[in-house]
Amino acid sequence: MNMPVLNVPAAPPATDPLDSLFDTLFRPMNAQGVYARTGAYESVVEALAALISSRREEATEVFRFPPVMSRAHLERHGYLKSFPNLLGCVSCLEGSEAEIRAAADRHLAGGDWTTGLETADLVLTPAACYPVYPIAAARGAVPRSGYRFDVACDCFRREPSPHLDRLQSFRMREYVRVGTPEQVAAFRESWIARATALADDLGLPYTVEQASDPFFGRLGQIMAFSQLEQSLKFELLIPLRGAAAGTACMSFNYHREHFGTTWDLRLEDGEPAHTGCVAFGMDRLAVALFATHGAHIADWPAPVRAALKL
Ligand code: 5GP
Ligand code: ZN
Repeated sequence: MNMPVLNVPAAPPATDPLDSLFDTLFRPMNAQGVYARTGAYESVVEALAALISSRREEATEVFRFPPVMSRAHLERHGYLKSFPNLLGCVSCLEGSEAEIRAAADRHLAGGDWTTGLETADLVLTPAACYPVYPIAAARGAVPRSGYRFDVACDCFRREPSPHLDRLQSFRMREYVRVGTPEQVAAFRESWIARATALADDLGLPYTVEQASDPFFGRLGQIMAFSQLEQSLKFELLIPLRGAAAGTACMSFNYHREHFGTTWDLRLEDGEPAHTGCVAFGMDRLAVALFATHGAHIADWPAPVRAALKL
């Protein structure tokens, strides 16, 4: 007979095989998923960035964005409908010197200074390509050849986690295409091929799978289903924990006319532009390289070090 067993302490969490890499890659900064990066780790992130740059297509415009962006722009993007739980918003002490002093003094007296905070007009950028669409739209009609952009940003998503492959603050690099549906479809297809070739050069095992974004709540499940049904997202997954499900290290996204409509970004015939992007998770790719090839870069396979010029 099966008897319920009461008052048995929960089994301790199984240790994550990635944990053994922590000291090689990071130092704690008193918050989950927010880490100081070691020189060895950063040399790999820089080498990866250079390798991705070397594969940049002709006629691609480069932008590098700060880690914060306009709150009004993010609201217009529809982020609050899709991922309100992931958003970080900047808040500051504003007002007269006396008001700011009073809030700061509350802290010095052991109280809570944060009650004096006011929401600012900035949010923490959650994806590297968001700021580029209003920049493109401000130019007027999209030229017949469309646009190609190379963008990068420190991104924030409020997902505290003890796992080294889920950071709250991480670097994202993207190539973005703006144009006709055909131009964007060709871009995404060619980048799935280019990105898998890049993973091959890095000696990384992977699968490419259809995916959906983690849309918030019950309504989000419907959005995720529709995204899957229309094959709008693929991910390159790298197994970081043996046979367990892989971690998404790159994504290949087709937004249809969502950003075109949102930003009044139009083709010469007046139709909303279509957009797509390929995103490289720089921190996840770096973690994947260490998880696959070991903690010591000097011991990595020669072709991988040659590809990275390390
Ligand atoms: P997406 O916009 O597709 O969710 O994210 C693009 C890429 O950013 C992902 O494929 C992944 O490589 C990276 N990324 C997303 N979330 C995280 C995270 O929590 N931590 C880290 N290190 N990278 C992430
Ligand atoms: Zn993007």
